[in-house]
Amino acid sequence: MTHSKATTRHKKRYNAFSDELKRVFGCRVHRISVDAGFTCPNRDGALGTDGCIYCGGKGSGAHGILPGASVISQIEAGKEIMARKYKAKRYIAYFQAFSNTYAPLERLRALYDEALDVRDVVGLIVGTRPDCLPSETISLLAGYSRRTYFWLELGLQSPLDRTLKFLKRGHDFAAFEKAIRSCRAEGIRVCAHVILGLPGETREEMLATAAVLNELGIDGIKIHLLHVMKDTPLETLFRQGEVRMLDRDDYVGLVCDFLERLSPGVSIQRLTGDGGHDHLVAPLWSLKKFEVLNAIDFELERRGSRQGSALS
Ligand code: SF4
Repeated sequence: MTHSKATTRHKKRYNAFSDELKRVFGCRVHRISVDAGFTCPNRDGALGTDGCIYCGGKGSGAHGILPGASVISQIEAGKEIMARKYKAKRYIAYFQAFSNTYAPLERLRALYDEALDVRDVVGLIVGTRPDCLPSETISLLAGYSRRTYFWLELGLQSPLDRTLKFLKRGHDFAAFEKAIRSCRAEGIRVCAHVILGLPGETREEMLATAAVLNELGIDGIKIHLLHVMKDTPLETLFRQGEVRMLDRDDYVGLVCDFLERLSPGVSIQRLTGDGGHDHLVAPLWSLKKFEVLNAIDFELERRGSRQGSALS
């Protein structure tokens, strides 16, 4: 599979989140990442101080604009950039860095409200861990679900407890299961994060994750590829030769197999990794995100398959 040309000529064979946003809002809606100064129980000492083995010091996958500035300032700065770059007009505030429900209710309410008060912000995405959702926080989030376009992002990574232990996640699968069932009961849309290519997992085990998530009734998914960021415990393991990365074709094939096993209604919000030039150690092919996404499109087309096609 060598499809290096970045094109967008194919209609997606999966339920792309960008299409859902266009359906709901009638236009493109852009996410603005916010770093609201949260921490994480796996960092602040409540559970540990080193974090998950793949987590960079800024919280996994976080790219806040003007971190340290107020929520309003970060969103306004993001709006300015996106309006210039993409002629963007509508935005979703994405509380991304660390665990964005890990604080008292009053603080959460003040931060989320601050974001929603910004002009042209039409929704909220809140990323967190499954063990940072006490029932009163779930009730608060349920209120936002009724009031605005709302998604909760929940890190799972793998449903296998032995993998979660290896990753030093600090919670087990049962915690995720409990969180997702509680959120569903309150009508909160949940997007689960999983990582493909984790050490010690067979291909069958990785694919079985799709069935687990179908059964739990997730609404959305972010599929990440295992990637190594600088200055993480995973980097040490990688440099010691204890962890190997998938090559691009293996990853593309795996993602297509996974999508074919995933319920067709699940919103696909990410299909590859999120490492930036400055911090990524491996695999370097993942920097060419559009090529990876195009290769996934081509492979699904070559197979004549689509999201959920293995379920019928
Ligand atoms: S839960 Fe998230 S923020 Fe906390 S250590 Fe793990 S990856 Fe980092």
